[in-house]
Amino acid sequence: MKIPILMYHQICEQVSPGAPFRGLVVRPSAFRRQMALMHLLGYRGLSMGALMPYLQGKAQGKVFGITFDDGYRNNLEFALPILQRYAFSATCYAVSGMLGQTNAWDVPQGVPQVPLMTIQELRQWIDSGQEVGSHTCDHMHLPLLDAGAQHYQVTQSRMDLERELTSQDGVRHFCYPYGAFDPTTVHAVQQSGYQSATTTRRGRAQTGPVQDLLLLPRVLVSRSTNLALFALKCFSAYEDRRGTVAY
Ligand SMILES: [Zn+2]
Repeated sequence: MKIPILMYHQICEQVSPGAPFRGLVVRPSAFRRQMALMHLLGYRGLSMGALMPYLQGKAQGKVFGITFDDGYRNNLEFALPILQRYAFSATCYAVSGMLGQTNAWDVPQGVPQVPLMTIQELRQWIDSGQEVGSHTCDHMHLPLLDAGAQHYQVTQSRMDLERELTSQDGVRHFCYPYGAFDPTTVHAVQQSGYQSATTTRRGRAQTGPVQDLLLLPRVLVSRSTNLALFALKCFSAYEDRRGTVAY
């Protein structure tokens, strides 16, 4: 069985014309229609933690994963009310060393700077039934670092988030910045005790005990994804052979 794990970044109406990667800013109205469609078809949107039994083949049902990379405040403002409306849960991957700051790692590419959630806002996200995962301490391109530095980024981010969030569930899910990893990265993620890690490899996740939970592919939803394409991505093999995107 194949399960789509949706990959979002920002949920916001406005976007600067000509801004690089503006395709990653999905309109709230589009996100609402996408969630409404899944709800209408009887599907439940789940965080990575809640999705695990389904990915492992231990549970069956009409489910899909919802993930947000980077931890933008606009996830809390615009996505949360829609998630709550349908009783869906989602995982937001936070950059532990940059909470309450902006997406400074995007400055060299000229991407507009927008606020990231503070620790209080991440707590609010969790208290609203959502999940927080790790996206490293500093949004690093991990394969460029040596093994020690990779291990630090992967492990320390988890420890810092767990300490600050004081959530009973802990931080058990990881997302590779830029979708970049090498064998050392995957080893570090495994050593740190994460239960899952998502990539930017495009496709739906294959369920069952053999599939690799630390290299999960996702379904990219962008500003230009209309509802018909969204359905095609979720329910057909459209996305399964689309290669990798470097976000
Ligand atoms: Zn990212």
